[in-house]
Amino acid sequence: MDKGRLFVVSGPSGAGKGTICQKLVEDTNIELSVSMTTRNPRSFEKDGINYYFVTKEEFQKTIAEDGLLEYAEVYGNYYGTPKEMVMQKLNEGKDVILEIDIQGAMNVKQAYPKGVFIFILPPSMAELRKRITGRGSETEDAINMRLGETLKEVSYIDKYDYCVVNGELSEAVERVRAIVKAEHSRVSES
Ligand code: 5GP
Repeated sequence: MDKGRLFVVSGPSGAGKGTICQKLVEDTNIELSVSMTTRNPRSFEKDGINYYFVTKEEFQKTIAEDGLLEYAEVYGNYYGTPKEMVMQKLNEGKDVILEIDIQGAMNVKQAYPKGVFIFILPPSMAELRKRITGRGSETEDAINMRLGETLKEVSYIDKYDYCVVNGELSEAVERVRAIVKAEHSRVSES
């Protein structure tokens, strides 16, 4: 059986990568990997759906057991991709999407070079600030920290296979869907 494809989506906080991934999952067969994190849940988040919320000790135990495909410290918290779940789905021929930060994506590139790497960009810095502020879940300091990271993050674009600007959500989703389709017709590995 043909193996599933692994898609890795990253980009600045507030670029809309989470929403794009959700839309993709709703209307394609692609499966979203649920990450493990030591961050506190936001009011609307559910354990096992948005993330597996764990303690630092539990996270470290999973690392020691080689249970993560990649992990990274992002904004003072740990985030990681459970390995077994992802590999099992790929082996079953299912496509999997990881919505992870750039450090994590670069680690996946080492561990799984066949992955397809997609970078999501906001249309502008002003729009990015508006989106993060609009969430109402971050303090002013956290917003400034996330915006400060953005310029550093954008310098990694050339390590990705594709870049999609998320100005109009439906257009951005359409583009990512087109990438998924195209990858199923890929001949060359490079
Ligand atoms: P948030 O706290 O806003 O949910 O996520 C913060 C950042 O962590 C985002 O850039 C998100 O893509 C990233 N992230 C979420 N899950 C993972 C993961 O499993 N691994 C890595 N490396 N980053 C993740």
